[in-house]
Amino acid sequence: MKLFLQSITTRIAVWMIIIASIPLLVIAYTLQYQKKDQITAQHLSNLQVVFNQTIDKIETNLHYQQQLLKNIAAMPRIAEKLLSTNPNQTIQLNPMIENYITTVVKQYGYYDFFILSKTGVVVYSYKKESDYGKSINDLSMKKSALAKVYFEALATRNSAITPLEYYTHSKRKSSFMATPIVMNKKIVGVVAVQLNENHIFNLVKHYNGLGKTGEVVAGVLMPDGKVVAAMPLKYDVNAYKNERVLNTGHNGTGMIQAVRGKEGMGEITDYRGVSSLAVWGYEPILKWGIVVKTDKNEVLDVVYKDALQLVYILIFIIIALIGTMFMSAKWITRPINNLILSMRQFRKEGKFHLNVAECEGEICYLSKEFLTMTEEINTHQHNLEEKINQRTNELLHAKKSIENYVEIVDRFIITSSTDLSGKITYISKAFEEISGYSKTELMGKNHRILRDPQMPNELFENLWQTITSGKDWHGEIRNIAKNGHYYWVDVHISPNFDEQGNMVGYTAIRQNITDKKLIEEISLTDQLTGLYNRRHLDAVLEKNSQIAERYNIPFSVAIVDIDHFKNINDTYGHQVGDYVLQSLSGMLKSQSRAVDILGRWGGEEFLIIFPNTEEAEAEIAAEKIRNAIEIFTMDSVGNKTVSIGVSEYHDDLHETIKRADEALYQAKAQGRNCVRSFKS
Ligand code: GH3
Ligand code: MG
Ligand code: MG
Repeated sequence: MKLFLQSITTRIAVWMIIIASIPLLVIAYTLQYQKKDQITAQHLSNLQVVFNQTIDKIETNLHYQQQLLKNIAAMPRIAEKLLSTNPNQTIQLNPMIENYITTVVKQYGYYDFFILSKTGVVVYSYKKESDYGKSINDLSMKKSALAKVYFEALATRNSAITPLEYYTHSKRKSSFMATPIVMNKKIVGVVAVQLNENHIFNLVKHYNGLGKTGEVVAGVLMPDGKVVAAMPLKYDVNAYKNERVLNTGHNGTGMIQAVRGKEGMGEITDYRGVSSLAVWGYEPILKWGIVVKTDKNEVLDVVYKDALQLVYILIFIIIALIGTMFMSAKWITRPINNLILSMRQFRKEGKFHLNVAECEGEICYLSKEFLTMTEEINTHQHNLEEKINQRTNELLHAKKSIENYVEIVDRFIITSSTDLSGKITYISKAFEEISGYSKTELMGKNHRILRDPQMPNELFENLWQTITSGKDWHGEIRNIAKNGHYYWVDVHISPNFDEQGNMVGYTAIRQNITDKKLIEEISLTDQLTGLYNRRHLDAVLEKNSQIAERYNIPFSVAIVDIDHFKNINDTYGHQVGDYVLQSLSGMLKSQSRAVDILGRWGGEEFLIIFPNTEEAEAEIAAEKIRNAIEIFTMDSVGNKTVSIGVSEYHDDLHETIKRADEALYQAKAQGRNCVRSFKS
């Protein structure tokens, strides 16, 4: 339902139907209501006519009978008979009169006919029941209706009538009518008839003009205040016999009012409990309340039938309305639906099918706005696309440059990255080339694989300390390639950080300095012996003298001179001389400590620098060397000896060398193959 009402068409249609239906329903209801009132009024007026007719009929009839009775009473023969007879004795009527009476009784259906004497004795009875011959004062007669009507006729000297009342002598309910017999203005007796109840009932029991359910109801107010049926009822023929209590009317309407002499009309609930339209009033002769009524349903049946018809018509109209309204709503929302279709088409084909140039109205304006907006969006999108293309080209260009750059870097820059533990995560091509390892061989391996064991541990300790604290490290390192060759690199190592600033690894950029190192080495090395040359020795001496000056750290030097070297040259030739120089150089090298610096001082002389060493200690070291050489045997030339001059540095480098020279001179002078110091 909720979904159904989301459509504008449905909403419009539903509202239109509601708006159209409400006045329709109101009009229909009002018309129906008016009709009901009209029919009710009409029927009540009909009932009133019937009521009047009924009362009229009763009264006309009774009056006629009273007149008839009066005529009989006026018969002189009856009066004369009474006057001529003992008033306590029954009389014998003239047969002619008797015949007349019989005719009257039969014609009017009287139950009985009486003549009472002036003393109140029933002197004549047509039926001659047990009341015949009895006096009004007799116990069985005293309070009877006959007695009442007798006394009333006497008292009023006029006709009298009693309502229906149980009469003992006839053992039935009866109404009596009486008229005094007057002779010379004197009452000589009374004529009375016992009315046949059916005769009276027949006056009332006609239902003409009351419809199928209508009837005339007569009721009598009993001394105890109850209202009982005065005649058989249409819906209860025994009501009269059973003295059915009539509750007709409520709240003082209908029968309740009628028996009390009031008139009225309107809606009542009858003795069956059925809602009825009624007119009511009082009949004074019989002392009856009379209600003329018809079941309300019957009266209003026409209205109900009309209403049903109206409902059918309304249903038809509403169905027609629904159709029409839905069509109208569709007509109203058609431009919207067209717009939706056009938009859908526009989305699919990029072409707008509505001709907005020649239309008017909100939807058209909406379409125009939509088109303008679409154009603007298109332009905007076009601009954006152009910008994106431009940026994409720029990016592609930049990417290419970067790729070129990266390729160049990859090709020419020896670079690698490791994680925090030193495991290799990336190496460049240049790295592959210099190390001789392929990428796959090195990935995940520790950088240690390239380490040269001869590189001092302190260097790596310093390196790790620096980079783990997040700083850059710079230095020169000698590595071992896959083929076992050394190569020197100048290394810059920087820590890597992620976006959160956490250190995640290290990247190193290296420069191959093997050639530089080689040149450096050559410039420091004596070509024949491979030891340091004089130039480097001078530099080392200078550096040591500076350290000595600044930190007051001592150092000593020793000049080693081969004894009688000239003889070797002379004896074996220059080449053997060179060979001896090379052999002894190796010997010296192996005998000197790692910290000591050994070089060729000139010709067949060598200089040893003992850093952080005083003269005495240097003398011991020199002596050890001298001894080792003495016992060292060479091819062709056998054993050779050296003389060594030792001197400790004191303030002046030149002086130190000079003193070592002097010490050497002394060693030579004192027989060679010995060590001498300057002080000795
Ligand atoms: P001593 O020192 O014991 O006094 O005697 P010596 O024979 O060693 O004397 P001296 O030290 O003066 O001799 C130096 C000689 O060493 C001179 C030269 O021929 C020789 N000599 C110098 N340099 C070279 C060299 O490079 N190769 C060869 N084969 N001989 C050299
Ligand atoms: Mg010499
Ligand atoms: Mg010599």
